[in-house]
Formats: sequence, C-alpha cells, structure tokens
Amino acid sequence: MTQRTTMRAWLRKGLAALCALACTVGVAACGSDEADGDHVIKVGIKFDQPGLGFKKSGTYEGFDVDVARYIANQLGYTDSEIVFKEAPSKQREAMLQNGDVDMILATYSITDERKKAVDFAGPYFVAGQDLMVRANDTSIKGPQDLNGKRLCSVTGSTSAKVVKEKFAKEVQLMEQPGYAECATALLSGIVDAVTTDDIILAGLAAASRGKLKVVGKPFTEEYYGVGIKKDADSKEFATKINDAIEEMEKTGEWERAIEHATEGTGYKPNPKYNPPKPDEGE
Ligand code: GLU
Repeated sequence: MTQRTTMRAWLRKGLAALCALACTVGVAACGSDEADGDHVIKVGIKFDQPGLGFKKSGTYEGFDVDVARYIANQLGYTDSEIVFKEAPSKQREAMLQNGDVDMILATYSITDERKKAVDFAGPYFVAGQDLMVRANDTSIKGPQDLNGKRLCSVTGSTSAKVVKEKFAKEVQLMEQPGYAECATALLSGIVDAVTTDDIILAGLAAASRGKLKVVGKPFTEEYYGVGIKKDADSKEFATKINDAIEEMEKTGEWERAIEHATEGTGYKPNPKYNPPKPDEGE
C-alpha cells in the first residue's frame, strides 16, 4: 500500500466514523440517502405526506415507508441498505424508467394508463379520493358542491385527472407539485378545497391542528401499488414483492403499521377493500 492509498483509507474511515456520529446525534440521514456500497435498494417515497411518506430530520416514516422496509427486508436488504428518494407524483414513471429507483411506494395508484409505462406489484392498500376544506366551511359536502370553487391538487396525480375529466366545467383547478403546498393554499384562502386520497388528506388535516377537515365521502377507489421498472424480470420481482406483502398482512404487521400511521387522525381504512390481496397489480 502506498502512502497515498493509506491516507485515503484513513480519510474514508474517519469520514465513516463522523457519519455514524452525525447519525447517532440525529443531524444526518441514517440508512437513507447515504447508504453505502453496492448492495442497496433504492426506494421512491413521498417526503411531505404525514402518516404515509414523511421526511423528518433525516429519518423517514409513514405507512409507505413501513411497507417498503418490510418488502426490502424480505428481499434481503437491511434497513441501512435502503436508500429513500423523493418521488413526487409527476416524476414517478420517469424515475422508474430511468433506473433512479428500484421500486416506488408513494401513494401510487395502479392505473391502466400507468401500466403502459411501468409495472406494479400489490396492491397493498386501497384508499378513495376525497375532499379537504377549512374546518369552518359548511358549503362543501361533496364534489357536487364544487361549482365555482377553487380546488387544489397535484400535477401527475389521478386526483387531478378525475377533476379534469369529471368537474372541469364547474371547478377552477390549481395544480401544485405536492399536497403540502395545496394544504398551505387552503389555509391561506387561495383555494376552497384540496382533493386527493382520503388517507393523505387525513394526515394533512391532523397536522393542521383543527384548521382543516376531511369531507369524508370518498368518490373513487385508489389501489396503491408498488411501482417497478417494466423489464424482463419485472414479473418475477413483482411476485417476490407480493409474497412480502402477503407475509406482512398475515403476521399482523400490516395492521400495526396502518394503525400507527393513522393514529390520532380519526381515519379508518375501508374494511370492504382492506387489506387487499396483492395480485401483481391486476
Ligand atoms: N393515489 C393518487 C395517485 O397515485 C393520488 C396520490 C398521489 O398523487 O400520490 O395519483
């Protein structure tokens, strides 16, 4: 070993020790963006959806994160071998196609249109599109009351698509990159309502400390899938993911995760559809 390589090895060691320390004291991401080595799995999640996919001082939490960790563990990856990346609604297909991530668990509805671009395992949850309004608003009780109102949703989501297809004439749609931005627009009076899946809205309403409420009349069914790249191995990969989801449901881990994720929000998953049987996204 030359003096230079020894020096480099020493530096690398020092850096690793520093990272470990930063991780312990909570100033750096642990087992996330900084995962090292070849044996890693890159997972796309949301960073701004409380209870589902949420980044909090370098750590990741929520139901999607728990399901992702369970699947990754079953596939042979330890928690520190999981690299979480932000997967905004609009970028999910491209991220899978480009190989930026190996799988996406980001409140990602399985749809025929998306299936043309990517493959899906799952479903692992079924939500429904709903509305969120300011707590003192009594004028909006369902989509039929949206006439002349300003509505916020997210670019690239099924929620925005449904609005455009079904309510385009009556509603003024404002699209944002994420639901947190929509919640802010609602709080400040820029829009009258936010629309997306009920479970997402429940987390945002709870985070608003009583300022926002969910209408509670879901009008679609959203089957959350695990997005994977469409290639020769995707069928086999989807089967492995589905085995993991089934195991998670069988062991009671799914139930525990959903209860934990929705604690204090008043949200209950629709028992007619949950937990769903994973069947390779069909
Ligand atoms: N589940 C819907 C979708 O995949 C809405 C939530 C989201 O944008 O992630 O489009």
